[in-house]
Amino acid sequence: MEDMAGDETSFYSKAEVYWRDVSPTVDGMLGGYGRISNIDINGSKAFLHKFLGDGAGQTGRGVALDCGAGIGRISKRLLLPLFGTVDLVDVTQEFLDKARTYLEEDGQRVGHFFCSGLQDFVPESGRYDVIWIQWVIGHLTDDHLVEFLRRCQGALRPNGLILIKDNMAYEGVVPDEVDSSVCRELPMVRSLASRAGLRIVHEEQQLDFPKEIYQVHTLALR
Ligand code: SAH
Repeated sequence: MEDMAGDETSFYSKAEVYWRDVSPTVDGMLGGYGRISNIDINGSKAFLHKFLGDGAGQTGRGVALDCGAGIGRISKRLLLPLFGTVDLVDVTQEFLDKARTYLEEDGQRVGHFFCSGLQDFVPESGRYDVIWIQWVIGHLTDDHLVEFLRRCQGALRPNGLILIKDNMAYEGVVPDEVDSSVCRELPMVRSLASRAGLRIVHEEQQLDFPKEIYQVHTLALR
């Protein structure tokens, strides 16, 4: 990661070019693994339900933010059914355009479609109960990820939660030249979250994914 610091601009612009050519479908969002979407969403639902409820200290169900939302695969099946309002942010305008039809009726409860890189995005202070960040952290440099997470913390409502769900490398950092991203080992992701001043409240590995793909872990932070 350090090595590419000087190449930051091309790290981001290559990723933008890559995603611009990807079809605006669930299969496109998941790199050809559209068939794992159900397992993914069900795992996320079970995870999130541990924090939603009426008890003291439970996370509210007002507003959620879907980061690197793409066409809104997660918004449609996880966030819109659970939260009153959902905002989407993604760097690829075509995906957000597609989301307007893909989300169907429920799309009326989208607050904002923000077209922005997360490295530049400033979420509104105190707006969100849940900030969901899935399969996109590898597109940010270490420093940008830390700064983005810090801004996310400031954007939480009381008892709000930040969720990171992503591929974890078995060891070190594995670059992906094709989509211009990196895959970090879990201890690195934990340490970047901690650099952002966040505490890990819960952590799980997603089970039942195909053996040949990266292991996927979910971290709840606040
Ligand atoms: N989270 C969604 C989409 C994953 S695909 C899901 O799980 O279905 C990765 C998404 O990240 C794409 O929509 C791509 O446009 C977006 N993306 C890539 N780099 C980004 C960046 N720097 N900031 C915001 N979004 C980015």
